[in-house]
Amino acid sequence: MDTEMLIGGAFERGSETEEAILDPRTGATILALPEASAGQIDRAVAAAQAAFAGWSRTTPAERSALLLRIADAIEADGAELARLEALNCGKPVGLVTGDEIPAVADCFRFFAGAVRNMHGALAGEYLAGHTSMIRRDPVGVVASIAPWNYPLMMMAWKLAPAIAGGNCVVMKPSEQTPLTALRLARILAGILPEGVVNVVVGQGGTVGNTLINHAGVDMISLTGDVATGRKMLVAASKSVKRTHLELGGKAPVIVMDDADLDAVVAGLRAFSFYNAGQDCTAACRVYAGPKIHDRLVADLSAAADSIVLDDADDSRNEIPPLISPRQRDRVASFVSRAAELNHVEITAGGSAGEGPGFYYRPTVVAGALQTDEIVQREVFGPVVSVTRFDDVDTAVNWANDSVYGLASSVWTRDVGRAMAIAARLRYGCTWVNTHFMLVSEMPHGGIRQSGYGKDLSGYALEDYTVVRHVMVKHG
Ligand code: NAD
Repeated sequence: MDTEMLIGGAFERGSETEEAILDPRTGATILALPEASAGQIDRAVAAAQAAFAGWSRTTPAERSALLLRIADAIEADGAELARLEALNCGKPVGLVTGDEIPAVADCFRFFAGAVRNMHGALAGEYLAGHTSMIRRDPVGVVASIAPWNYPLMMMAWKLAPAIAGGNCVVMKPSEQTPLTALRLARILAGILPEGVVNVVVGQGGTVGNTLINHAGVDMISLTGDVATGRKMLVAASKSVKRTHLELGGKAPVIVMDDADLDAVVAGLRAFSFYNAGQDCTAACRVYAGPKIHDRLVADLSAAADSIVLDDADDSRNEIPPLISPRQRDRVASFVSRAAELNHVEITAGGSAGEGPGFYYRPTVVAGALQTDEIVQREVFGPVVSVTRFDDVDTAVNWANDSVYGLASSVWTRDVGRAMAIAARLRYGCTWVNTHFMLVSEMPHGGIRQSGYGKDLSGYALEDYTVVRHVMVKHG
């Protein structure tokens, strides 16, 4: 197992406090990993700065060729990457192999193509005798900070547009899930010039904090909690660093009375509980029309109860446990506070697993009101609330009544109604009769406190490049 960080062209272990890396399926310690020292972070930033001069001047075609090689290498190493990701996150290995590794490789392939196809404003004479043109150039050194829910995929989402755009990166995976980042670092070191990508490990409050406050960092990219995003903004404000923030979510799901109930239930079974709901787009806040509500609660509860999660035969498992005992206890406390309310009924799940793993059963909270904590706050676990609405205006207002603004969906057989509702939802993404589906060509990112950075798509390349104006005087 790779335990060394990548700093410039060298691999070295951290020299500070050790962090226990846990197997969420058993609670056992996989290994203890020392975190980076301030000196090691300094050297990682310096290596990125040194590499920038050369890397930023490579052609899009040259960078594209290397991104394509990275994608091929990830596929070639897919079995081991999937094994490590499954071990560190407790994910069913078949799902990592089937869903995540292809998406990670595709992300690098997409940006390999996209960087050769960037478009911009017309050059022209906007002042007589002078030609103006627009350039898009790399930002510089990017500090990329990732969460634990999809460690390898988040790394790909951050690295691919950043290096495609000509930036150099110091990457910090979550202290809970560094294993695939360290493995990918080995792969990257064999393909990219020294210093283009550096990987350091450690806690947010120590290693992360040092990195985001580093004078040599030009941009901070975070996927994480809203509270962590605020810390990025404070750090960025000191030297006016650019920021790219992808924060939490609390996705509303509007189910109209005319929706195809079986499709809704099959969809929610998948899109609410995938990755044990540890997904910022998880379909967790359902608003159901008055005629479909009761059948939806009954069928969704039965569907939630049927999800396999702690079978000894991993090929049968559909969702993982939660990432840590802390996360499991946090989820349990949300559900127990909801259960104390007279108007609420827990119609599925509502309990942790019995073994040492960090399991929590898929849970349906029926009867929740708009003002209830379970409707308002991000749980980040396998928990769905269902709230009845009487008219579409109420449903849209409740859906928009959130500090978050990442993802949403509407389910109806009436396409005109779907379009009208989608136009009123204030979310970075609205799906119609589905949820959760991502493609590399389309942007993923929020509004309001979900942040404003876009991952995937040409918009991410825009986020990781700066617009510059060059004006040439004739004669
Ligand atoms: P987190 O904010 O606790 O940690 C994210 C990363 O930030 C980790 O690497 C952590 O070490 C680092 N960090 C924490 N404090 C820091 C500090 N002071 N300075 C620098 N770095 C610091 O989030 P998490 O618990 O790992 O992930 C769950 C959260 O991420 C949820 O709120 C979820 O909604 C959000 N998330 C959002 C998206 C999205 O695309 N919008 C995707 C996945 C997860």
